[in-house]
Amino acid sequence: MNDTILDPQDTGPSKGLDTISLLSSDTRLQGRPKLCSDCGLCDSALKNRMSSACIFVRNQTADIEQRLHGRTRRPDDEQLFGIHRAQYVARMRRPNPHAQWSGIVTSLAARLLEQGQVEAVITTGAAAGTRFQSEPILARTPAEVLATAGNKPCLSPNLRLLDTVREQGIKRLAFIGTSCQVHMLRAIEAELGLDKLYIIGIPCSDNVTYPDLEYFLTQVSRSPQTIVHYEFMQDFSLWMRHENGQTERINYIDFPMDKLHGIFPSSCLSCFDYPNTLADLTVGYMGAPLGWQWVLARTAIGEELFELIRPELELGDLISSGDRTRGMPHYIARLNQPPGAKKPPFLVRKLVAYMQRKKGSKGLEFARAIIEMKLLRNLNYVRSKFPRFEARVVPEHVYHTLAPYADHYQAVFGRPLTPPRESAS
Ligand SMILES: Cc1cc2nc3c(=O)[nH]c(=O)nc-3n(C[C@H](O)[C@H](O)[C@H](O)COP(=O)(O)OP(=O)(O)OC[C@H]3O[C@@H](n4cnc5c(N)ncnc54)[C@H](O)[C@@H]3O)c2cc1C
Repeated sequence: MNDTILDPQDTGPSKGLDTISLLSSDTRLQGRPKLCSDCGLCDSALKNRMSSACIFVRNQTADIEQRLHGRTRRPDDEQLFGIHRAQYVARMRRPNPHAQWSGIVTSLAARLLEQGQVEAVITTGAAAGTRFQSEPILARTPAEVLATAGNKPCLSPNLRLLDTVREQGIKRLAFIGTSCQVHMLRAIEAELGLDKLYIIGIPCSDNVTYPDLEYFLTQVSRSPQTIVHYEFMQDFSLWMRHENGQTERINYIDFPMDKLHGIFPSSCLSCFDYPNTLADLTVGYMGAPLGWQWVLARTAIGEELFELIRPELELGDLISSGDRTRGMPHYIARLNQPPGAKKPPFLVRKLVAYMQRKKGSKGLEFARAIIEMKLLRNLNYVRSKFPRFEARVVPEHVYHTLAPYADHYQAVFGRPLTPPRESAS
C-alpha cells in the first residue's frame, strides 16, 4: 500500500524534473547505480552477478542472440523487432475482462501450469490495497497466475523471486517480464540449475516508479482515483477506463510534457529493447491493428508456447500502412527543443491528432515508427546524461537502424550519429 500522505498532484515527480536517478526518495534503492530499473536481481543471492548481467552496465543483446539463435539480426525488420521465427496478430477467443488486452499472456502461463509443463510462474500482481502498484508473485496455480492479469505499469523487482524458486526446489519455471528483466535473466540463465525455462516477454517503454505513476495520472486524467485500466493506444491517444465503465481519452499531443519529462527513470531512458527481443515469445500490441495483440515467436520454445495457446486464439491479419520516415525529421528537430517547449495552439493540436489518426502509420509501420523514435530519443539521452556509457549500453543495431536519418541528425545536433568509437577512428 502506498504510504505517501501528500496528494501526488501536489508533490510533483518524485525526483525533481531533471534529476538523473531512479527514485531518490525510496530508501530501499539508495546506493544503487544511477542506471537501475529495479529488476530485483540485486535483492537476490545473485547480487554479485549484477556487474556481469546488468543491461545498464553492458548491453549483451548481440551475444545473447548469438547464443539463442546462432546468428545476428537480419538487415530487415529484425533490426527493430529483434530476431523472430514468426509473427502474428491474435486475440483470445474468450477475452479475460481483467486482462490488459485479451489476456494471452496470463492464459498461456495458466496453461503451462495446468498441463504441468512448469511448476511455477514469476508474474506481477498488484500490491494489496492498490490497483497499480507492482508486486512480484511466484504463482503455483493457474488461478494465481490469472489473478495477475493486467498491467501494473511501474517498475517491478521480479527477479528477486529467484531465491524463492531455488528454495522451493522449482526446476521448471516460466517468467513473464519486461526486457531489462529478461536481459538479466538470460545472462544468468545457465547458473540457475533449471531444467526448463520459458520466457514470455511484454514490450515495455517509459516505465515509472509507483509514486510517479500516481503523479502521471493526476496530470492526464480528470479523475485519477477511479482509473481501473489504461493503455497507450495505437491511435495516438491514451485511453483510461474508469470504475463507472466510461473511457476517457487524451491525445498524445495534448500531454503536459513540461510537467512529465522528469518522471521517467534514467534506466528506461537508456533502454534499447522496447520489443523485448530476448524473450522466447513477445506479446504486445503495437504492431497490430487497434483491438488486436501482436505476438512474436522468437525461439523454438516460443513456437512451442504459441502452439499451446493457438487453439484459444482468433487470428487476424498483419497490416502495415503509412510512412514513418516522413515524420522522423520533425521528431529529430523536436528532440532538440527543451522539454518544456510551448505546445502548439489548441486547434493545431486537434488537427495534428486528427491527421495522426487518419494518415498516421498503422500496424507494423506504427511499431517501426515508435521503436525508432524511442531508440533515437534514448540514444540522445545517453549522449547527454551518460556520454561515457554509450559504448557499453547502446547496442550496435541502434546505429544501423537509425542510419537513414544520419544527415538530419548531423544537421540538428551538429555531430555524427555513428558511435564515438567509429567517428573517432
Ligand atoms: C510498463 C509497460 C509498458 C508497456 N508498453 C507497451 C508498448 O508500448 N507496446 C506494446 O505493444 N506493449 C506494451 N506493454 C505490454 C502490453 O500493455 C500488455 O501487457 C501485453 O500486450 C500483454 O497483454 P495481455 O492481455 O496478453 O496480458 P495479461 O494477460 O493481462 O497479463 C499481463 C502480464 O503483464 C505482467 N505485468 C504487468 N505489469 C508488469 C510490470 N510492471 N512488470 C513486469 N510484468 C508486468 C503481469 O505479470 C501479467 O502476467 C507494456 C507493458 C507494461 C507493463
